[in-house]
Amino acid sequence: MNRASILFAQTTTTTEDTSDPLDFVGDFFDSEEWLVIRNVTLFFLVVFWLASAYWVYKDARRRIDDPWLLAMAVALGVFPPFVGPLLYMFFRPPEYVEDVRERELEIKAMEETLDVSERCPVCRAAIESTFLACPVCTTKLKDSCRRCKAPLEPLWQMCPFCETPVESPRAVENLSG
Ligand SMILES: [Zn+2]
Ligand SMILES: [Zn+2]
Repeated sequence: MNRASILFAQTTTTTEDTSDPLDFVGDFFDSEEWLVIRNVTLFFLVVFWLASAYWVYKDARRRIDDPWLLAMAVALGVFPPFVGPLLYMFFRPPEYVEDVRERELEIKAMEETLDVSERCPVCRAAIESTFLACPVCTTKLKDSCRRCKAPLEPLWQMCPFCETPVESPRAVENLSG
């Protein structure tokens, strides 16, 4: 035996002999229980990682329309694990694509109803509610009162300005027939 191996033998015997509490910790990390705990923990970490990545995918699909941005969001959800989904939550679009589309449709529908009252049904030229005929295509838009010549809405049975009953062509036909 040379000097180094003697020293080694001495140190190993001293660590084995002492009842150091660190020995217990060392034994624990060598034991079967530790292996089981470590594996179960790893298993749950992996499951949680995959679940968080899948959640990012599901959420991003509802919020992001662009396929490239969606792929980037999913990649961030996968890596870095756990931090990626957190970062995604900070920077994700605040609205669902569905809601944005719905709102756009509503605005469009509103604009269209506004347009109908503002435009000639034949040539779509801008008209005013008081016009009797379209100034562009000469389409007759409204009847005028027999007495005061005020423009009348199609449903009115009486002129609201001079109280003259409205004589609709259909009513006249019924009376005569
Ligand atoms: Zn017109
Ligand atoms: Zn009138």
